[in-house]
Amino acid sequence: MNVKDRKKDRKEVIMWKPYKAVFFDWDGTAVMSRRACADDAVAAMKPALRKGKKLVIVSGTTYENIIGGRIQDYFTTEELDNLYLGLGRGAYNYHFENGQPVIFTDCVPDKENLLKIHDVCYQMHRQLLEKYDFKTDIVFTRPNYCKLDLAVENDRGEQLFMQGDEIDALREKLKSHGITDGIEGLIELAVETGKQYGVAVSATCDAKYLEIGISDKSDNTRIIFTRLQKEYGIQAKDCSFWGDEFVGIQDHIFGSDAFMLTEETKEGDFYDVSTLQGARPGKVQHIGGGVDTFLDFLRTL
Ligand SMILES: [Mg+2]
Repeated sequence: MNVKDRKKDRKEVIMWKPYKAVFFDWDGTAVMSRRACADDAVAAMKPALRKGKKLVIVSGTTYENIIGGRIQDYFTTEELDNLYLGLGRGAYNYHFENGQPVIFTDCVPDKENLLKIHDVCYQMHRQLLEKYDFKTDIVFTRPNYCKLDLAVENDRGEQLFMQGDEIDALREKLKSHGITDGIEGLIELAVETGKQYGVAVSATCDAKYLEIGISDKSDNTRIIFTRLQKEYGIQAKDCSFWGDEFVGIQDHIFGSDAFMLTEETKEGDFYDVSTLQGARPGKVQHIGGGVDTFLDFLRTL
C-alpha cells in the first residue's frame, strides 16, 4: 500500500466530529520544527478559520518563534478574528484586533517573583551538583520561568520536541547518580524549594528540561477556553485538543500537552499524533502519524 492509499484509508476510517474549536500545540504537531516551512499548516488552517472555526495555538514558546513572529501576515483580518494563541507556558494569551496581535490576558511575575524563581532554580542546581554530582545548566531569560537543563550533553538542534530515547537516557542517568525517585522527585524538590522562597511553583518536565515557573499550558487553555465559552457558547465537548507530547516520562507525570486537559476541558476529545510509546492520560487517544495526521484533520473541519 503506498502512502497515498494509506492516507485515503485513514480519512475513510476516522469520522471527525464537527468541532467548533481546536486547541493545538505548534512544534511537532502543526509544523515539524520551529524553522520548518509553515506553508502546509497555514494552508490547512485558513479554510477552517474562514468557516468560523476557532483555532487556538497552545505552545510553550513565544510569539517571535511562531513563523518568525509574523503569523499575522499569513492570514486575512477576518481569518485572524478566529485565531488565538496561548504562549509562553501560561504567560501570554493573544487574540487579534484589526489583524494585529494583542495580549488580552497575561500571567507574568513581577521582577521580585521572577528572581524568586531564579533562586529556586539555582538552589536546585546547587543541590543536584553537591549531593548527586549531577550537572545542570539554567536558562534564565524566559519572562516567567526557568529551564533547568538535565541533559546538558544532549543538543536537540532544530528538533525541539521530545525524542523517544531521551526519556530512557534521562531515567538511566538519574539512577546512575543516585537520584532514585526520578523526575517525580525533582518536581517535588522544585515545589518544596519554591515554598522556602515563598513562591508557589508549577514544575513540568520533558526528557531534557525541568521547567519551573508560576504558570503552565493549563493556564493558557483555561483562559482561552473560558473566553470562547462566554463569547460563543462553545462547550468542552465541542473542542478537540492536539499535541505530540502527552506521553508520561514516568508514572503520573505526563508531557506538556497533557496540561491542556483541565477540569474545564476534560469533556473534550484529546489526540496525540506522536509515535512515542508510553503512558498517556486516560482521555487521550493515541493516533500517531505526526504533523500529517493533524493537518489532514484540519482540512476536514
Ligand atoms: Mg510539541
